Amino acid sequence: MPDHRPPTHPSISPQPPQDIDPQDGLYAIPDCEGCGACCSFSWEWPTLIGDHDGDGIPAYLIEDGRMRCDGDRCAALAGTIGDSVHCRVYADRPLVCREFTAGSEACHAVRAHFGLDE
Ligand code: SF4
Repeated sequence: MPDHRPPTHPSISPQPPQDIDPQDGLYAIPDCEGCGACCSFSWEWPTLIGDHDGDGIPAYLIEDGRMRCDGDRCAALAGTIGDSVHCRVYADRPLVCREFTAGSEACHAVRAHFGLDE
């Protein structure tokens, strides 16, 4: 059965920004295609988990069991952070990328690191 849930990882969401009442315990969901912060905050992330995580990702983008990074930025991230970005391996992106939730506390923490949250 097709999965019609919205994407859960920034840099790829085709959804327009949405505002969610903080009273609900959630944060506003940013425009992921104008962000990229979660793909650029640590050379240690994302790590591949399990035998088939990362299948389909070109070998030159993988290093020591994780995505290769240029500094803290994932080498698969294309574009300019805070302006326009996309994942070059979106269809095969690692599990941790799929599970990172746009609008979560972690999402807003990395956005704040880049000055993208007021
Ligand atoms: S693999 Fe794609 S989604 Fe995951 S950190 Fe890199 S650019 Fe972002």
